[in-house]
Amino acid sequence: MIKIQLTERQEKIIDIVKSHQPITSENIAKKLKLTRSTLRPDLAILTMAGILDARPKVGYFFTGKTSFNAIAEKIRSIKVADRKSVPVIVDEQTSIYDAIVTMFIEDIGTIFVTSNGYLSGVVSRKDFLKNAIGGMNLNKTPIAVIMTRMPNIIVTYPEESILDAAIKLIEHEIDSLPVVNEVVLENGEKAYKLVGRVTKTTITRLFVELGTNEV
Ligand code: ADP
Repeated sequence: MIKIQLTERQEKIIDIVKSHQPITSENIAKKLKLTRSTLRPDLAILTMAGILDARPKVGYFFTGKTSFNAIAEKIRSIKVADRKSVPVIVDEQTSIYDAIVTMFIEDIGTIFVTSNGYLSGVVSRKDFLKNAIGGMNLNKTPIAVIMTRMPNIIVTYPEESILDAAIKLIEHEIDSLPVVNEVVLENGEKAYKLVGRVTKTTITRLFVELGTNEV
């Protein structure tokens, strides 16, 4: 883990390299009126962080990276698989009543629905409310009647970047994405095996960890 919190001297080094590149460590040291050995740890940090690039016998270059770029790169490198949580799943035949109870017990806002073990639907709080107003028999009606169904479900994959998953949440104005592995059935059709979920909370938690330097 590299925490990029630059010191004043390191910022100065970056400025010098930006305007005089390529520049040797000796010349950087001269400009700062310091010895080369004093600078060595700073140059090592800046090179490790990818902010400077050292070429033997030529000197130091600025790579164009800033701390902000480093954060963006870090986020892009995090995969859905690294962050996904356990999905709450019910079968299509589950009654609306039982699914509502599950939502309370599990303290979640979205339930994923499966048929024969494969993803078939998604039910959110609003879906329940909409149908509760309709005066439906909640004990007798299966969840399949009110869920948002395949193929209209927005999914993410374990190998997708967490940034792309967050973009899907925003673009589709939804709270949660099922994490799936695609499989091809015997009849040639594609189906999704549920392996996790990514929610707005997943992204908020990551945001807090990035902000407090815990990632
Ligand atoms: P809430 O009901 O709390 O506003 P959402 O904004 O996630 O929750 O859900 C809004 C609508 O989008 C609901 O009808 C829900 O079934 C549907 N929905 C939720 N998640 C998905 C998803 N991943 N793909 C497609 N539709 C979804």
